[in-house]
Amino acid sequence: MSLFETTSIQCPVCDTLSDFQAAGSVNADRRPDLREEILDNSFQNVTCPSCNEMMRLEPVVNYLDVELGLWLAAYPPRQIGEYLALEDEVQMLFDESYGAAASASAQEVGADLQPRLTFGWPATREKLFLRKEGLDDVVIEMLKLDLLRRLPEAPLRPGVELRVTSVSDDALGFVWIETASEEILQAFECNKALLVEIEGNLDAWAAVRSDLTRGLFVDMQKLYLGEGRDAA
Ligand SMILES: [Zn+2]
Repeated sequence: MSLFETTSIQCPVCDTLSDFQAAGSVNADRRPDLREEILDNSFQNVTCPSCNEMMRLEPVVNYLDVELGLWLAAYPPRQIGEYLALEDEVQMLFDESYGAAASASAQEVGADLQPRLTFGWPATREKLFLRKEGLDDVVIEMLKLDLLRRLPEAPLRPGVELRVTSVSDDALGFVWIETASEEILQAFECNKALLVEIEGNLDAWAAVRSDLTRGLFVDMQKLYLGEGRDAA
C-alpha cells in the first residue's frame, strides 16, 4: 500500500502556509506511476497556491519495489550526519518487515530485496535508477572514489554529491548536484571502461567494499563523514 499524509509547508517566497500530501510509503509494484515520478524527478513536487512557486517536499519515505528488488528508506539531506543511528534504526525496520524478524512469507520476499538508506532525492533517484539499469551500486560508489582521484577540480563539499543520472552503451552520465536544492553544478560523462576495470579488479577494492557495505547507507560520503562505525 502507498500511504500519504497531509503536511503543511511554508512557501519560501511568500510565506503562505499550505497543505500537501506527503508520501510516507510507496509501493512501486502497485503504483508504478510513482516509480516513474521518482525517476523523472517530478515526485513530491508541489506548487504554492498563492504565488505558484515550485517546491519539493523532503523525502521521509519508505519505498518498496519487489519487481526491481529494492527497499529504500529515504530521509531529508539534513539528517545525513545522523547516518549511523539511522542505519541501525532502518536495519531494524527492514528486519521486522522483510528480514530475520519477519514472517516466513515476508522473508521470502525480502530475500530478493536490496535494503538501502538514502538522504535526499538525488541519492534516492540514483539507487532506483541503478537498480533498474542492472548496475551494482557498490561498484558505482567505488568508481566515484576512483574518479575523485582523477578529477582535481571536483566540487566536493558538504551538501554537494556526485550522482549517476544516465547510462548509454559506452558511458555513464554523472552530475555534481547540490543535494537540497537539486541544482546541478557540473555534468560529465565517464567511459564505461573505468567501471569494467574496477569490476575486473575487485580484490583490490575489498577493503573499500567492506567499508561501504557496513550498514545500509551505501555511499562514498560515509568515508568522509566523521569517524565511522569502528570508532563509534
Ligand atoms: Zn508562495
